Amino acid sequence: MQGNISTRIEKAKQAIKQADYILLGGGAGLSAAAGITYSGKRFTDHFGSFIEKYGFTDLYTSSFYPFTTQEEKWAYWAKHISLNRYETGPTKLYKDLYQMAKDKEYFVITTNVESQFEKAGFPSYKIFEVQGNYSYLQCAKGCHNKRYYNESLVKEMIQQTVDCKIPSELVPRCPVCGGEMDPNLRSNQYFVQDEKWYELDRLYKDFLQKSEGKQIVYLELGVGFNTPGIIRYPFERMTYYNEYATLLRFNKDHPEGFEENKDKTITFTEDMREVVIALMK
Ligand SMILES: [Zn+2]
Repeated sequence: MQGNISTRIEKAKQAIKQADYILLGGGAGLSAAAGITYSGKRFTDHFGSFIEKYGFTDLYTSSFYPFTTQEEKWAYWAKHISLNRYETGPTKLYKDLYQMAKDKEYFVITTNVESQFEKAGFPSYKIFEVQGNYSYLQCAKGCHNKRYYNESLVKEMIQQTVDCKIPSELVPRCPVCGGEMDPNLRSNQYFVQDEKWYELDRLYKDFLQKSEGKQIVYLELGVGFNTPGIIRYPFERMTYYNEYATLLRFNKDHPEGFEENKDKTITFTEDMREVVIALMK
Protein backbone atom coordinates (compact mmCIF):
# COMPACT_ATOMS: atom_id res chain seq x y z
CA MET A 1 0.00 0.00 0.00
CA GLN A 2 1.43 3.34 -1.07
CA GLY A 3 0.34 6.78 -0.04
CA ASN A 4 1.80 9.55 2.01
CA ILE A 5 3.20 8.94 5.46
CA SER A 6 0.20 10.17 7.41
CA THR A 7 -2.19 7.96 5.41
CA ARG A 8 -0.01 4.92 5.97
CA ILE A 9 0.32 5.67 9.68
CA GLU A 10 -3.46 5.99 10.04
CA LYS A 11 -4.03 2.69 8.20
CA ALA A 12 -1.39 0.96 10.29
CA LYS A 13 -2.85 2.30 13.54
CA GLN A 14 -6.24 1.02 12.48
CA ALA A 15 -4.83 -2.42 11.70
CA ILE A 16 -3.07 -2.62 15.07
CA LYS A 17 -6.18 -1.45 16.90
CA GLN A 18 -8.33 -4.11 15.24
CA ALA A 19 -5.81 -6.91 15.62
CA ASP A 20 -6.14 -9.58 18.29
CA TYR A 21 -2.69 -10.93 17.47
CA ILE A 22 0.67 -9.34 16.71
CA LEU A 23 3.62 -11.32 15.43
CA LEU A 24 6.87 -9.39 15.55
CA GLY A 25 9.72 -10.38 13.25
CA GLY A 26 13.01 -8.67 14.10
CA GLY A 27 15.95 -8.49 11.70
CA ALA A 28 19.30 -6.71 11.62
CA GLY A 29 17.73 -3.45 10.46
CA LEU A 30 15.75 -3.27 13.69
CA SER A 31 18.81 -3.28 15.93
CA ALA A 32 20.60 -0.84 13.61
CA ALA A 33 17.61 1.52 13.85
CA ALA A 34 17.66 1.10 17.64
CA GLY A 35 21.28 2.35 17.68
CA ILE A 36 23.13 -0.97 17.88
CA THR A 37 25.29 -0.21 14.88
CA TYR A 38 28.19 -2.38 13.77
CA SER A 39 30.30 0.34 12.18
CA GLY A 40 31.14 4.00 12.58
CA LYS A 41 31.85 5.67 15.90
CA ARG A 42 30.36 2.92 18.06
CA PHE A 43 32.85 0.53 16.47
CA THR A 44 35.94 2.77 16.39
CA ASP A 45 35.38 3.95 19.98
CA HIS A 46 35.55 0.41 21.34
CA PHE A 47 37.85 -1.50 19.00
CA GLY A 48 40.82 0.84 18.55
CA SER A 49 43.53 -1.69 19.37
CA PHE A 50 41.90 -4.36 17.16
CA ILE A 51 41.50 -1.92 14.27
CA GLU A 52 45.18 -1.03 14.59
CA LYS A 53 46.31 -4.65 14.75
CA TYR A 54 44.03 -6.29 12.16
CA GLY A 55 42.73 -3.41 10.04
CA PHE A 56 39.11 -4.18 10.95
CA THR A 57 36.54 -1.89 9.34
CA ASP A 58 33.34 -2.93 11.12
CA LEU A 59 31.98 -5.43 13.64
CA TYR A 60 30.30 -7.62 11.07
CA THR A 61 33.24 -8.52 8.83
CA SER A 62 35.61 -8.69 11.82
CA SER A 63 33.54 -11.55 13.25
CA PHE A 64 34.63 -13.69 10.28
CA TYR A 65 38.35 -12.98 10.77
CA PRO A 66 40.43 -16.19 10.86
CA PHE A 67 42.34 -15.64 14.11
CA THR A 68 45.42 -17.85 14.26
CA THR A 69 45.25 -18.43 18.02
CA GLN A 70 42.41 -18.99 20.49
CA GLU A 71 43.94 -16.33 22.75
CA GLU A 72 43.45 -13.70 20.01
CA LYS A 73 40.06 -15.00 18.94
CA TRP A 74 38.63 -14.75 22.47
CA ALA A 75 40.13 -11.34 23.19
CA TYR A 76 38.14 -10.12 20.17
CA TRP A 77 34.95 -12.06 20.87
CA ALA A 78 34.87 -11.09 24.56
CA LYS A 79 34.84 -7.45 23.52
CA HIS A 80 32.29 -8.01 20.76
CA ILE A 81 29.94 -9.98 23.02
CA SER A 82 30.36 -7.64 25.97
CA LEU A 83 29.60 -4.47 24.01
CA ASN A 84 26.53 -5.82 22.23
CA ARG A 85 25.07 -8.07 24.92
CA TYR A 86 26.19 -6.85 28.35
CA GLU A 87 27.12 -3.16 28.06
CA THR A 88 24.21 -2.00 25.90
CA GLY A 89 21.02 -1.54 27.91
CA PRO A 90 17.46 -1.78 26.62
CA THR A 91 16.96 0.62 23.73
CA LYS A 92 13.96 2.89 23.32
CA LEU A 93 12.80 1.40 20.03
CA TYR A 94 12.53 -2.13 21.47
CA LYS A 95 10.79 -0.76 24.57
CA ASP A 96 8.28 1.08 22.37
CA LEU A 97 7.59 -2.14 20.47
CA TYR A 98 6.86 -3.87 23.76
CA GLN A 99 4.36 -1.14 24.69
CA MET A 100 2.73 -1.56 21.29
CA ALA A 101 2.37 -5.33 21.59
CA LYS A 102 1.88 -6.03 25.26
CA ASP A 103 -1.92 -5.87 25.42
CA LYS A 104 -2.38 -8.19 22.43
CA GLU A 105 -1.67 -11.86 21.95
CA TYR A 106 1.88 -11.57 20.68
CA PHE A 107 5.01 -13.48 19.85
CA VAL A 108 8.50 -12.59 18.64
CA ILE A 109 10.67 -14.35 16.09
CA THR A 110 14.07 -12.84 15.50
CA THR A 111 17.44 -13.37 13.89
CA ASN A 112 18.96 -10.82 16.28
CA VAL A 113 21.25 -12.14 18.99
CA GLU A 114 21.72 -9.31 21.53
CA SER A 115 18.75 -10.05 23.88
CA GLN A 116 17.17 -6.65 23.15
CA PHE A 117 13.61 -8.02 23.11
CA GLU A 118 14.08 -9.54 26.55
CA LYS A 119 15.75 -6.41 27.91
CA ALA A 120 12.79 -4.36 26.65
CA GLY A 121 10.31 -6.44 28.67
CA PHE A 122 9.20 -9.27 26.37
CA PRO A 123 9.13 -12.51 28.38
CA SER A 124 11.71 -15.06 27.24
CA TYR A 125 9.03 -17.70 26.52
CA LYS A 126 7.65 -15.45 23.77
CA ILE A 127 10.97 -14.83 21.97
CA PHE A 128 12.26 -17.35 19.46
CA GLU A 129 15.90 -16.44 18.73
CA VAL A 130 16.45 -18.63 15.70
CA GLN A 131 20.10 -17.79 15.08
CA GLY A 132 21.41 -17.97 18.65
CA ASN A 133 22.38 -15.49 21.33
CA TYR A 134 25.61 -13.76 22.36
CA SER A 135 25.12 -14.84 25.98
CA TYR A 136 26.16 -18.42 25.33
CA LEU A 137 29.13 -20.48 24.26
CA GLN A 138 28.89 -23.90 22.65
CA CYS A 139 31.23 -26.65 21.50
CA ALA A 140 32.74 -25.45 18.19
CA LYS A 141 31.97 -28.87 16.70
CA GLY A 142 28.54 -29.08 18.32
CA CYS A 143 29.45 -32.40 19.94
CA HIS A 144 26.60 -32.01 22.45
CA ASN A 145 23.58 -29.72 22.44
CA LYS A 146 24.23 -27.63 25.52
CA ARG A 147 24.87 -23.89 25.70
CA TYR A 148 26.99 -22.22 28.41
CA TYR A 149 26.18 -18.77 29.83
CA ASN A 150 29.27 -16.61 29.40
CA GLU A 151 28.84 -13.32 31.31
CA SER A 152 31.46 -13.79 34.04
CA LEU A 153 33.94 -15.45 31.67
CA VAL A 154 33.60 -12.62 29.14
CA LYS A 155 34.23 -10.03 31.87
CA GLU A 156 37.29 -11.91 33.07
CA MET A 157 38.62 -12.16 29.51
CA ILE A 158 38.28 -8.41 28.98
CA GLN A 159 39.99 -7.60 32.27
CA GLN A 160 42.91 -9.85 31.42
CA THR A 161 43.34 -8.89 27.75
CA VAL A 162 46.83 -7.63 26.91
CA ASP A 163 47.90 -6.79 23.32
CA CYS A 164 44.62 -8.17 21.93
CA LYS A 165 45.18 -11.55 23.61
CA ILE A 166 43.69 -13.29 26.63
CA PRO A 167 45.85 -15.53 28.87
CA SER A 168 45.85 -19.18 27.72
CA GLU A 169 44.26 -20.40 30.95
CA LEU A 170 41.08 -18.46 30.10
CA VAL A 171 40.60 -20.10 26.69
CA PRO A 172 37.32 -22.04 26.98
CA ARG A 173 37.39 -25.77 26.26
CA CYS A 174 34.42 -28.01 25.52
CA PRO A 175 33.67 -29.91 28.75
CA VAL A 176 32.71 -33.00 26.73
CA CYS A 177 35.24 -33.39 23.87
CA GLY A 178 37.92 -30.98 25.12
CA GLY A 179 37.91 -29.12 21.79
CA GLU A 180 37.49 -25.46 20.99
CA MET A 181 34.36 -23.46 21.72
CA ASP A 182 32.46 -20.78 19.79
CA PRO A 183 29.79 -18.22 20.52
CA ASN A 184 26.31 -19.75 20.04
CA LEU A 185 25.66 -18.04 16.69
CA ARG A 186 24.56 -19.80 13.53
CA SER A 187 27.61 -19.46 11.31
CA ASN A 188 28.16 -23.05 10.20
CA GLN A 189 26.65 -26.54 10.39
CA TYR A 190 27.73 -27.01 14.03
CA PHE A 191 25.26 -24.48 15.46
CA VAL A 192 23.80 -25.88 18.70
CA GLN A 193 20.02 -25.91 19.14
CA ASP A 194 19.39 -26.88 22.74
CA GLU A 195 16.14 -27.90 24.47
CA LYS A 196 15.18 -24.27 24.97
CA TRP A 197 15.59 -23.60 21.23
CA TYR A 198 13.26 -26.49 20.37
CA GLU A 199 10.78 -25.41 23.03
CA LEU A 200 10.60 -21.90 21.55
CA ASP A 201 10.26 -23.37 18.08
CA ARG A 202 7.22 -25.30 19.37
CA LEU A 203 5.73 -22.24 21.06
CA TYR A 204 6.21 -20.25 17.86
CA LYS A 205 4.38 -22.89 15.84
CA ASP A 206 1.60 -22.99 18.46
CA PHE A 207 1.20 -19.25 18.05
CA LEU A 208 1.01 -19.56 14.27
CA GLN A 209 -1.64 -22.22 14.58
CA LYS A 210 -3.67 -20.27 17.13
CA SER A 211 -3.58 -17.07 15.06
CA GLU A 212 -4.36 -18.71 11.74
CA GLY A 213 -7.27 -16.97 10.00
CA LYS A 214 -7.54 -14.41 12.83
CA GLN A 215 -7.17 -10.63 12.92
CA ILE A 216 -3.41 -10.35 12.99
CA VAL A 217 -0.67 -7.84 12.27
CA TYR A 218 2.63 -9.18 11.03
CA LEU A 219 5.20 -6.62 12.08
CA GLU A 220 8.27 -7.11 9.92
CA LEU A 221 11.08 -5.02 11.35
CA GLY A 222 14.27 -4.47 9.38
CA VAL A 223 14.36 -7.91 7.76
CA GLY A 224 16.51 -7.99 4.64
CA PHE A 225 17.57 -10.74 2.30
CA ASN A 226 20.37 -12.46 4.27
CA THR A 227 17.99 -15.14 5.53
CA PRO A 228 14.57 -14.27 4.05
CA GLY A 229 13.30 -17.82 4.65
CA ILE A 230 13.13 -17.30 8.42
CA ILE A 231 10.86 -14.25 8.70
CA ARG A 232 10.28 -12.40 5.46
CA TYR A 233 8.88 -15.12 3.17
CA PRO A 234 6.79 -16.85 5.85
CA PHE A 235 5.23 -13.50 6.80
CA GLU A 236 4.38 -12.84 3.14
CA ARG A 237 2.90 -16.33 2.80
CA MET A 238 0.79 -16.08 5.98
CA THR A 239 -0.45 -12.66 4.90
CA TYR A 240 -1.49 -14.08 1.55
CA TYR A 241 -3.49 -16.93 3.07
CA ASN A 242 -5.26 -14.89 5.76
CA GLU A 243 -7.86 -12.39 4.64
CA TYR A 244 -7.75 -10.70 8.06
CA ALA A 245 -4.00 -10.17 8.08
CA THR A 246 -2.05 -6.96 7.63
CA LEU A 247 1.66 -6.93 6.97
CA LEU A 248 3.49 -3.88 8.33
CA ARG A 249 6.88 -3.79 6.71
CA PHE A 250 9.65 -1.52 8.00
CA ASN A 251 12.55 -1.56 5.60
CA LYS A 252 14.74 1.27 4.40
CA ASP A 253 16.44 -0.65 1.61
CA HIS A 254 14.11 -3.45 0.49
CA PRO A 255 10.50 -2.30 0.78
CA GLU A 256 9.24 -4.35 -2.18
CA GLY A 257 6.86 -7.24 -1.53
CA PHE A 258 4.65 -9.80 -3.23
CA GLU A 259 2.32 -8.18 -5.74
CA GLU A 260 -0.55 -10.37 -4.49
CA ASN A 261 -0.25 -8.86 -0.99
CA LYS A 262 -0.09 -5.23 -1.97
CA ASP A 263 -3.51 -4.32 -0.59
CA LYS A 264 -2.70 -5.96 2.75
CA THR A 265 0.80 -4.52 3.12
CA ILE A 266 1.72 -1.15 4.56
CA THR A 267 5.35 -0.28 4.01
CA PHE A 268 7.53 2.22 5.80
CA THR A 269 10.96 3.23 4.55
CA GLU A 270 11.07 6.14 6.99
CA ASP A 271 12.96 6.16 10.31
CA MET A 272 11.59 3.20 12.24
CA ARG A 273 11.86 4.94 15.62
CA GLU A 274 9.73 7.86 14.50
CA VAL A 275 7.08 5.75 12.80
CA VAL A 276 6.73 3.48 15.85
CA ILE A 277 6.27 6.52 18.09
CA ALA A 278 3.63 7.86 15.69
CA LEU A 279 1.82 4.51 15.69
CA MET A 280 1.52 4.60 19.47
CA LYS A 281 -0.13 8.06 19.62
ZN1 LIG B 1 32.71 -30.81 22.20
